[in-house]
Amino acid sequence: MYIAIEGIDTAGKSTQIEALRSLFPDALITKEPGGTTVGTEIRNMVLHGNLKSKTAELLLFLADRAEHTESVILPNMNKLIISDRSAVSGMAYASVQNLCDEPVLVMLNRLATGGTLPDTVFILKLTSEELSYRLSQKEHDVIESRGTEYLLGIQDALIASAYALGIQTVVIDATQSIDTITKEITTFIKGAL
Ligand code: C5P
Repeated sequence: MYIAIEGIDTAGKSTQIEALRSLFPDALITKEPGGTTVGTEIRNMVLHGNLKSKTAELLLFLADRAEHTESVILPNMNKLIISDRSAVSGMAYASVQNLCDEPVLVMLNRLATGGTLPDTVFILKLTSEELSYRLSQKEHDVIESRGTEYLLGIQDALIASAYALGIQTVVIDATQSIDTITKEITTFIKGAL
């Protein structure tokens, strides 16, 4: 079973991934972008490099996804795979930039993954108030400078993208306590295993 955890920055993805790591010690925990050696280089290139072209960025994220699918996801399909982000993020970030139409993005992500998409995606969803509060608590950085409106747009796009890709989607209220969220995810996983 292959699941992905999705959510905008500050939604609590990393915290949930760490909780799941200890609750499912046999699971393969991975991430996108940067779940492979080449992927780590791509991640650095895109997030910390000097790319001018948004199209180049999209294509590099797709290359990362193709490499991740081939070398991490496919060889471990007999295990529980838990991924921090997936094609759902890939589609969502690209769709808010209006680089190409949704059907094209679906096709590109199907190409990159060979159709091996998460069985279920959990989307940690924040309210606008909680997002503003969490951003105000963070150090001034790149994430904060993007602002609440941008991130809320990405959040909507995450949900729309998961549906567009035809992935079973569980939207979780990310304003709940860490333990409650972990319990919601684990109850679902145990029911599905
Ligand atoms: O969650 P993670 O640390 O992996 O994401 C780092 C940054 O990469 C996020 O802040 C997000 O803005 C960006 N990202 C992106 N396109 C993706 C995945 C992540 O722009 N497909």
